[in-house]
Order: sequence, then structure tokens, then C-alpha cells
Amino acid sequence: MPDVRRRALPDELLVECAGTPVPVVLQVRPNARRMILRLDRITGVPTLTLPRGVGRAHAERFLSDHAGWLQTRLAARPAPVAFRPGGIIPVRGEPHLIHHHIAFRGTTRIEAGSEGPVLVVHGDPAHVAGRVERFLRAEATLDLTAAARRHATAAGVTLGRITIKDTKSRWGSCSARGDLAFSWRLILAPPFVLDYLAAHEVAHRLEMNHSTRYWRHVAQLFPRFREAEAWLNRNGSGLHLIGR
Ligand SMILES: [Zn+2]
Repeated sequence: MPDVRRRALPDELLVECAGTPVPVVLQVRPNARRMILRLDRITGVPTLTLPRGVGRAHAERFLSDHAGWLQTRLAARPAPVAFRPGGIIPVRGEPHLIHHHIAFRGTTRIEAGSEGPVLVVHGDPAHVAGRVERFLRAEATLDLTAAARRHATAAGVTLGRITIKDTKSRWGSCSARGDLAFSWRLILAPPFVLDYLAAHEVAHRLEMNHSTRYWRHVAQLFPRFREAEAWLNRNGSGLHLIGR
């Protein structure tokens, strides 16, 4: 039976934060016990989780009571880093300056600059962001494929297809058939983090779970796995702000 109260709620509500209306996405969760306001870990979008049956007026009151908290949290959030000329983005954990070259033709590439590596992009300025992302996806494919093959050889397992995506919830995955998928954003992280993710997914070819036995395989393939996990916990959500 359709839930009338649930349908009566809009998808989002506006809350006034320092004079600016901020949209808050509403999410009805039947098993939620109370209203919870948070910023999405990846997108930073304010989201209000509500138990079933909470009406609009109640939700609006809750949001206006928490407007100060929301404003503080939004202000503390690191700003997204766009792929634009003059922008500095990490590639393999090192800052790279995006330089747009006026020449119309030329492949996107990394060059040594006087103050550090430069990511050189050619062509129509309107296409710079797309070219940077395509370049990073290609680099991620190269690094992740090489790392996964190396770990697969060490583990004595076969691999299926390796695909690169823009996953939000997971950095990588391994199917029962041995197909691996990874987030292209791993190319932004220091190389040992990308290497660890490759080892993590390859180890699932030996154990399709996160049991003690599984982690023993990971430790054998990649002894620094704890350091890499800690890096991702600290910096992982920041990687999702790059290129948005
Ligand atoms: Zn896993």
C-alpha cells in the first residue's frame, strides 16, 4: 500500500544559513529512530534522515533549530578543486599544475616544470576539464592494471576484466568471476595507496570476504596495508572533491 505521509514530504527542504537558502535532501528511513542531519561523506550535500511518519512542519522546525550547526559544517568543508587552467591537483600524490596550452592540437601529458610537474592540456578551453579527467582515467587504468597483474602473479590467481569507474561508495570491487573494478580517483592518491587497493581486490580471488584468513593474504601481498587503509580513511573523501 502506498504511504501517503511519505509522498506528502518533498524531496528537499530549504533551510536559511547565514541568509542563504541551503537545500537539504530528505531521506525517509523506516528504521530511523529520530531525525539525523548530516553532510554526505562524498558529495557534501546536506541530508536529513527521517523516521517514517514525520511531517513537513516537524522536519522544517528541526532544520531551523540546526541551521547554525549546518552552517559551521558547510564552512569547515574543504572546497572542491575544479579541473581548470591554473588549478593544482594531486596526481600519484604529487601536486600538478594544470596548464592550458594555446595550441589546438597535442596530447594531454605530464611535463617537468620549473616549480614541479605540469599537466599540459591543449585545445578548446571549454574542454580542459574533460581532457584532464580522460587523461587521469587512462593513467589510472595503466597503473591499476599493472599493479593488479603483479599481485595476481604473486598470489597465483587469474583475473578477468579490469574496469575503471567513478565509484562513490567503494574504491574497488572483485566479482566471483575475477572481474575487478576500481575508482579512477586512486590515481590522485600516493602510489602505495593505489597499489594497496589492487592487492586488496586481488586477495579477494583467494577469499571472497574480509576474514582473518583474507587479511593474512593481503599482508603477504602488501605488508603496508594498514598504512594505506589509514591514508584512505583520512583523505579518501577529499579525493571525491577533486574535479567537481
Ligand atoms: Zn574487500
